[in-house]
Amino acid sequence: MKKIYLFLAFCLVGLQAKAQDYKTENIILVTLDGMRWQEVFNGADSLMVDDTGMIASQGSLLEEFWHPDPLQRREKLMPFFWGTLAQEGQLYGNRAYGNYVNNANSMWFSYPGYNEVLSGFADDERINSNSKINNPNVTLLEYLNQKDEYKGKVMAFGSWDVFPYIVNEERSGVPVNAGFDIATGDDLTDVEKTINRLQKEIRGPWGGVRLDPFTHHYALESIKKHQPKVLYIAYGETDDWAHGNKYDQYIWSAKQTDAFIQELWETVQSMPQYKDKTTMIITTDHGRGVTKRTWTGHGDAIAEAGEIWIAAIGPDTPADGEMKEKGQWHSAMIARTIFQLLGMEYPDSKAEPAIQEMIR
Ligand SMILES: [Zn+2]
Repeated sequence: MKKIYLFLAFCLVGLQAKAQDYKTENIILVTLDGMRWQEVFNGADSLMVDDTGMIASQGSLLEEFWHPDPLQRREKLMPFFWGTLAQEGQLYGNRAYGNYVNNANSMWFSYPGYNEVLSGFADDERINSNSKINNPNVTLLEYLNQKDEYKGKVMAFGSWDVFPYIVNEERSGVPVNAGFDIATGDDLTDVEKTINRLQKEIRGPWGGVRLDPFTHHYALESIKKHQPKVLYIAYGETDDWAHGNKYDQYIWSAKQTDAFIQELWETVQSMPQYKDKTTMIITTDHGRGVTKRTWTGHGDAIAEAGEIWIAAIGPDTPADGEMKEKGQWHSAMIARTIFQLLGMEYPDSKAEPAIQEMIR
């Protein structure tokens, strides 16, 4: 009997040592709404990018984004992705190599996509609209916020005003600054006061979605002010410009978001509590169509709208760059991957397996 206990004790020590092998202590999860894998891996699309109808003062799209070689073209569009992430991280989803990332859900629009990323599984029965309904599923953010180590150190920022419901802010206690929320509290920084003011003065083109610079700068300021251990940032512009058939604005937003992500990464890598202890995972909630008519839309009537991508960078992720092996991944695999990086088992058995290639 004693021998068995001794053996069990060794196993437990072994498991603990394994968990401590990971260097990740903080997570930054980023999403770009409806950003196509086609642009991520091939740059601006020849079907849509042209200067016809452009106002000269806005510059030339072809000059800024076009090159006949897709490898150069994607660098022009997303220099951080194809510089730092390609050198030090991983990019999944280039279907030219049979490296497939898809939605696990079959809806191919936003709430089901975000639910899948955040809770680890598709829930087509219950999550089948974009309505402002509190998510019945517990997300990875909520599970972490229940743990002493992370309580009060989990925060979310989003451009779309449905995020407080997707994260179930009410039940989870995870603060969500989304839509046209301003920064509140009696210890506002000068930066937060300025963003609050500008957000009221600059209305933007949409009802339920604010322009991404507001989301970005609130989130960036929260990193400096609160040092959250788990931060979720959901950019939204790409999807809304695409719905409006504004390809120029869509690719400008993609390029700007790439710069935002670079700023996030450089900021955390300059702070001792984050440097070389933070993993950043970036993905999208759904894909979109591929023709001049269908690229603006998504949903289950558009064949390609379930095709997506995932990127990652961090101390526990091998620097494989663009992933070229054949295989199938889902955005529903991210939740368990994040828990494994933090040295924990994901508490929901319905969640899909972790992406093992992402963890050293
Ligand atoms: Zn959409």
